[in-house]
Amino acid sequence: MALPKSAKTLIIGAGIHGLSTAYHLALNLKARGKGDGRDILIIDKTAIAAGASGIACGVVRNNYFQPAMRELMAQCVEVWESDMEAYSYHPVGYMQISPESMHADVGTIAKQQKEIGYESTFIEGEKDSMDYMKDLFHDWQAQGITSVLHEKKGGYSNNTKAMYGLAGKAEAEGVRIMTGVEVTGFDRDNGSEAVRAVKTSKGDIQCDQLVVAPGPWAKQMWDMLGLQKTVSIKGADGKMHDDIPMWIYWSLQEGTLGVDPEMQKTNDGKMPPVIHVDSDAPLYSDHDGSLITDEMWGIYYKPDFHFNGIQGGAAPFAIDTPPDDVAVDPYGVDSPDFVVGEDFAHMWVSALAHCQKRFEGQMVHYNSEPSGGIGSFTPDSFPVFDRFVDNVYMIADSNHGYKMIGVGKLVAQELCGETSALLEPFRFSRYAEGKLHPVSSSPFPWS
Ligand SMILES: Cc1cc2nc3c(=O)[nH]c(=O)nc-3n(C[C@H](O)[C@H](O)[C@H](O)COP(=O)(O)OP(=O)(O)OC[C@H]3O[C@@H](n4cnc5c(N)ncnc54)[C@H](O)[C@@H]3O)c2cc1C
Repeated sequence: MALPKSAKTLIIGAGIHGLSTAYHLALNLKARGKGDGRDILIIDKTAIAAGASGIACGVVRNNYFQPAMRELMAQCVEVWESDMEAYSYHPVGYMQISPESMHADVGTIAKQQKEIGYESTFIEGEKDSMDYMKDLFHDWQAQGITSVLHEKKGGYSNNTKAMYGLAGKAEAEGVRIMTGVEVTGFDRDNGSEAVRAVKTSKGDIQCDQLVVAPGPWAKQMWDMLGLQKTVSIKGADGKMHDDIPMWIYWSLQEGTLGVDPEMQKTNDGKMPPVIHVDSDAPLYSDHDGSLITDEMWGIYYKPDFHFNGIQGGAAPFAIDTPPDDVAVDPYGVDSPDFVVGEDFAHMWVSALAHCQKRFEGQMVHYNSEPSGGIGSFTPDSFPVFDRFVDNVYMIADSNHGYKMIGVGKLVAQELCGETSALLEPFRFSRYAEGKLHPVSSSPFPWS
């Protein structure tokens, strides 16, 4: 296909957000008699699912300490459930298993899930938590757990299958997707600053409105648009904190234990919920018994036929290289700098064995192929969904977002002129106004 010279709506990025926005915008335009999918063009410098969406673990959960995140995730789960086959979605549920230091936080999540009608069971106390877990997995053995939040909805989705499913749905509505087209800059209107055309490796494309869904390349797009490199944030202390870098990077730690996924079935022979355990119990090596950490640690895992084993991860770490010097490309498993190493494998498999006896002695089966990748994070580690320079809509999810398939649906409504209350808490102005999201005691930056 020749590169079109113009598109009414041009979308950069064929990941979850670009694809979901395109598909839902096509439906919206048609329903409102204002056009259809043929008005929409997606471009991607590499391929569909070439970014974070193609390597994500694919976990879909509601478990967030922040009410705005929970409400948004409930809407996203509805979208996952709307076409489970195309989205390769497995509604197995999700469990947050926590130590006493997180008990109260998780208790508020459980309470608010009830209020918004999101089905979950909350177990409290060490004995009851152990009994509940043993009822599910006879070999459960994690110590020091005092609460279990069992979300009955949520689960996981197979990353590339879901992206191709979503792309197929968008294309069926007439959306064009062109890959191998790299954005290199923007032509701006002199007066309004709006983007009139996008410069690409294959030529310029004029557009009426532009959607930027760049995942880990958020900083590059932000810089290309000439947006501010630092922000001032009004803190909980009421004071302004200046010169906070807008983007930093974290390295996501994920891997696969190459055993039969069926090994993780529940006592009654079913596929289990996704398990997330945070713990302050000392973690010892399953290899040699040495102490790995006596500080707070966390892991998540699920059996996954797509990854061919038990797949999951541990808490990420912040990359201390100055953001301007971080090489995002080559991305994901092709990165020479940001794939997980032996330390991760050792910690993660030992933590699996800490939780369930069936994983003891299984370290030899760890799949040593490269895995993991980096994500770009905002100053408060929460998404920014907002308009910039007149006609640019930025979907910058701060690495929360594989599960956020519903954001594209809401963005599509906003592009058609309807403001979404669910997206309001994620505007850029929250930094200056001090309308920040509450912070949890989880060891993860996105809980
Ligand atoms: C290892 C890992 C595990 C994760 N696990 C989970 C999980 O279990 N659950 C969850 O909810 N989230 C998870 N995430 C986060 C989630 O994957 C991301 O938040 C989400 O996929 C981002 O989607 P996106 O559409 O914004 O970006 P992406 O999927 O990264 O898509 C952006 C696209 O933009 C393209 N692009 C970039 N620059 C240009 C340019 N100049 N010109 C043209 N195209 C360009 C890229 O090629 C890419 O295809 C994980 C992330 C990582 C890294």
